[in-house]
Amino acid sequence: MLGLMMNMPLMISNLIKHADAYHGDAEIVSRLPEGGIHRYTYHDAHRRSRQLANALNGLGVKMGDRIGTLAWNTHRHFEIYFGVSGIGAVCHTINPRLFPEQIAYIINHAEDDYIFFDITFTALIEALVPHCPHIKGWVALCGHGHLPKSDKIPNLMAYDDLVNSHSDIYEWPEFDENTASSLCYTSGTTGNPKGVLYSHRSTLLHAYAAALPDGLNLSARDSVLPVVPMFHVNAWGLPYSVALTGAKFVMPGAGLDGASLYELFEQEKVTLSAGVPTIWLGLLQHLQANKLRLSTVRTLVIGGSAAPPAMIRTFDEQYGITVLHAWGMTEMSPLGTANTFKLKHLGLSAADRDKIRVKQGRPLYGVQMKIVDGEGKSLPHDGKAFGDLLVRGPWITRSYFKSTDGSPLVDSWFPTGDVATIDEDGYMQITDRSKDVIKSGGEWISSIDIENLAVAHPAVMEAAVIGVVHPKWDERPLLLIIKKKDMNVTREEMLEFMSGKIAKWWMPDDVVFVDSLPHTATGKLLKTKLREDFQNYKLPTA
Ligand code: AMP
Repeated sequence: MLGLMMNMPLMISNLIKHADAYHGDAEIVSRLPEGGIHRYTYHDAHRRSRQLANALNGLGVKMGDRIGTLAWNTHRHFEIYFGVSGIGAVCHTINPRLFPEQIAYIINHAEDDYIFFDITFTALIEALVPHCPHIKGWVALCGHGHLPKSDKIPNLMAYDDLVNSHSDIYEWPEFDENTASSLCYTSGTTGNPKGVLYSHRSTLLHAYAAALPDGLNLSARDSVLPVVPMFHVNAWGLPYSVALTGAKFVMPGAGLDGASLYELFEQEKVTLSAGVPTIWLGLLQHLQANKLRLSTVRTLVIGGSAAPPAMIRTFDEQYGITVLHAWGMTEMSPLGTANTFKLKHLGLSAADRDKIRVKQGRPLYGVQMKIVDGEGKSLPHDGKAFGDLLVRGPWITRSYFKSTDGSPLVDSWFPTGDVATIDEDGYMQITDRSKDVIKSGGEWISSIDIENLAVAHPAVMEAAVIGVVHPKWDERPLLLIIKKKDMNVTREEMLEFMSGKIAKWWMPDDVVFVDSLPHTATGKLLKTKLREDFQNYKLPTA
């Protein structure tokens, strides 16, 4: 027997409709790449999304067509999220930090029809044009006055002209909630990028879960600033979750340095922000150097790479800000876990709570998790055993876009490529990417644990640990360090600092000081490059 409830499809357009209807005067603020601050409301954003929908129809865009964006977080990008998906087309966000060849590959693989771009990327677009012959038009995200003067970009138009020349009378269509809504390519460190194709249903379910108190805890009383770009897994789904809750939304454009962020945090009374650890490193330095405090921020969501325990403690103890450590991936929309306490943890000592806080957190309802050994056998959830982390859930990918390699799933579970422990309370802790695990004498060493310890030293700005070939142990850990400006620490002092804080056999065999460390386009340490650079490195113990 079937239930007798309405069968309404979960539609992205209903999010912006809801935000307009019940939070129509809540503000959306953007720092524009062309300069200045733009300020309007959900009511305005909804109206402009409808105008965009008419404009797209006018351009001949149909259900399922892909529309690419190369853009920062701004109100125009926000309108594209709703206008494009709302008509049943696919909003394909592209990471401008990738190499131009990778971007051209992605645009061609996705078969985008139009590209909407910020004018800061004009030179990049000019370089892409000859390699993307099927693009029907290039839309610069600006008003008429800022339209780039380029004779190398065919069918170039200004976004505001396109939108303003269309009516705002538009009824969002209803269709199957499993229809594709947006597309994001993973920036893997090897091979070609792979497309993750989200649906209206997966996006809505993710938006609900992300807003929950033990998720990101969003409400109509928040002012939310995503530092995480809208080209990186839909800014972790925040544009959808803020529309769902009616939170104020503040977008930083291209200003991601500590000073620009601080200014916007204070000016717009931001309560919650989200980004990768390197962003918060920049903000912390700005705060410390200028003796500043953040007066309204209550939560910083940190994910994308492990949040160093020292950073979590500094924000908490010196600034009274809670770090919400979260984990996920492009294939997971992206949220998998968030780290919040349970009732029974509230009475714990600060030291015991610290031990929990450094973990990546508990699964949001909807995400199932397990860890397995090399043979695929499930490992116990005891916080000690570590193995390959597998996940399932309605906002987790089952296949890559246009993939000819078959499904990535293993017995209907998605292998994350992460190695983790899960404790009795369900808190998961990443110990490594499976490719980065250091295998010493048949045992695994967690590079993340060693990095976390190294950055707790006051003179260390950033640390990376890689496995280097060793004649006796196969591999041994090598610690690479960037020192903070005007601070000093020697190899011996570093080893002395770490000694006794991790297992003896996990201690790095050597420490090398470097000026910079390579990162991927999404801000993660590029360990493949480091392993390549140090492949002939001779450890003193070898
Ligand atoms: P991406 O698909 O680019 O978002 O990358 C996903 C990968 O980033 C995950 O599989 C993890 O390896 C890593 N990652 C994300 N969040 C965290 C975190 N909180 N701690 C450690 N690694 C993380």
